[in-house]
Amino acid sequence: MTRLEIPQSDAIVVGSGPNGLAAAIRLAQAGRKVSVLEAADTPGGGARSAELTIPGFVHDVCASVFPMAVCSPYLSTLPLQEYGLEWIFPEIPLAHPFDDDSAAVMFHSVRETANGLGADGPEYEALIGQMVPSAEDLFASILAPLQLPKHPLLLASFGLKAFRSARTVSRAYFRTERARALFGGIAGHAMLPLEMLTSAAPALALAVAAHAEGWPFAKCGSQNLTRSLVSLLRSMGGDIITGFEVQSLNQLPQADAVLLDVTPRQLLRIAGDRLPHGYRRKLEGYKYGMGVFKMDWALSQPIPWRSPECRQAGTLHLGGTLDQISLSEREAWQGRVADKPFIILAQATVADPSRAPAGGHTAWGYCHVPNGFTGSMVEQIENQIERFAPGFRDCVLARSVMAPEDFERHNPNLVGGDIAGGAAIPSQLFFRPTAGMYRVPAPGIFLCSSSTPPGPGVHGMCGYFAAEAALSSALS
Ligand SMILES: Cc1cc2nc3c(=O)[nH]c(=O)nc-3n(C[C@H](O)[C@H](O)[C@H](O)COP(=O)(O)OP(=O)(O)OC[C@H]3O[C@@H](n4cnc5c(N)ncnc54)[C@H](O)[C@@H]3O)c2cc1C
Repeated sequence: MTRLEIPQSDAIVVGSGPNGLAAAIRLAQAGRKVSVLEAADTPGGGARSAELTIPGFVHDVCASVFPMAVCSPYLSTLPLQEYGLEWIFPEIPLAHPFDDDSAAVMFHSVRETANGLGADGPEYEALIGQMVPSAEDLFASILAPLQLPKHPLLLASFGLKAFRSARTVSRAYFRTERARALFGGIAGHAMLPLEMLTSAAPALALAVAAHAEGWPFAKCGSQNLTRSLVSLLRSMGGDIITGFEVQSLNQLPQADAVLLDVTPRQLLRIAGDRLPHGYRRKLEGYKYGMGVFKMDWALSQPIPWRSPECRQAGTLHLGGTLDQISLSEREAWQGRVADKPFIILAQATVADPSRAPAGGHTAWGYCHVPNGFTGSMVEQIENQIERFAPGFRDCVLARSVMAPEDFERHNPNLVGGDIAGGAAIPSQLFFRPTAGMYRVPAPGIFLCSSSTPPGPGVHGMCGYFAAEAALSSALS
């Protein structure tokens, strides 16, 4: 095992995902010398882009749509625009097509969205709209570990709705299939069965984010978000070494703090000999969730959606009714795959033509599958797109396919294809991966990945809070 020789640092961050970089930047802001070590040749973890299909077509390998980044109480304070980041907001954040050629649409405006939902418009305003004016305070409370809240009433009002299943909330508030399906599709981002307690939470948060800020893409690809974070870090004296996979903490030079942007399984592998028995047992019991099966397409033209609104939307939810989406998520959770899987699809080039040669387009789409699934979902995914956009396959110039094992090879944090750093089930939602959260019970070691609160998504808050924990102890 190679021992790493690098200049002396106060802190070492292992992993350069959005949380690793956020942690490193926070430490550098506090005047600490930080080095980041990354296994892959390119930094960014879940925020990377590559020409996966044809030269000139840029695809986001993992994250593509960034509502949580623009609403992040920490990332939103960083001057990333000065380091090359440009957010691009599609005309319509989200469309959800149906078999009758219509679509439920989430516009930036709450009123416009409500108007499109007919009889359920007032209910939409009551459920989502009333939280939008307080979005900044809300995200400060929910993108944080459970603590004495600064806005207790706001958090309580959110919690009363969020700590329920998406199906219960959807059916309690809405009478029309359109509104129920729209809500159910957003809840599909939870990677949980829609019957499970807390599956409503991401739907509420993502809908509020759409109206408060939007669901943007990073211009020229997600890698540009990472580039801006890395440039900012370097401007503050931090450095980053790629192509170095840490297999054991014994490879690292002495530092006051080591922050690990890894999930419990890797924490056991690389630091297991330093961990108390009881803690190891808890990490061994940590549960990973569903995996994803993803496709990227290089296209000769925009996707020929039957519904005109879908042609302007950045993100689409393809799954039909609430019952159909629920079935798809339940099947994957229980170890099977649905014939008509729920697909999350992003078409960045409708808003950002820089990602493809003139006239060309890209699309990115995935469905949930059982953890470690080894089959193919290519037919089912493309059939779902054809269902709402007949002729889609005729536009495909090339396709890239990534199954769970490809994801795990791409990034060891994606265990069995789980993109959430562990299932966000109620028992792993607030105190991830254990009650100690960022603090590993070994001197100077901290966990800063999405396996800590507030969990998955590109918001950098796990990294920020882990850095704060280090600054108040090992680095104080
Ligand atoms: C297909 C897919 C689609 C997604 N879509 C979205 C989306 O649209 N919007 C959104 O907000 N989120 C999305 N996500 C989730 C998002 O990418 C993650 O929640 C986020 O990247 C987590 O950040 P992180 O820093 O905790 O970990 P990661 O981004 O996973 O980064 C961890 C890094 O650590 C490195 N690493 C791990 N072990 C070691 C080691 N031993 N030595 C050195 N380096 C190591 C890895 O190589 C990796 O670079 C998606 C994820 C996937 C996979």
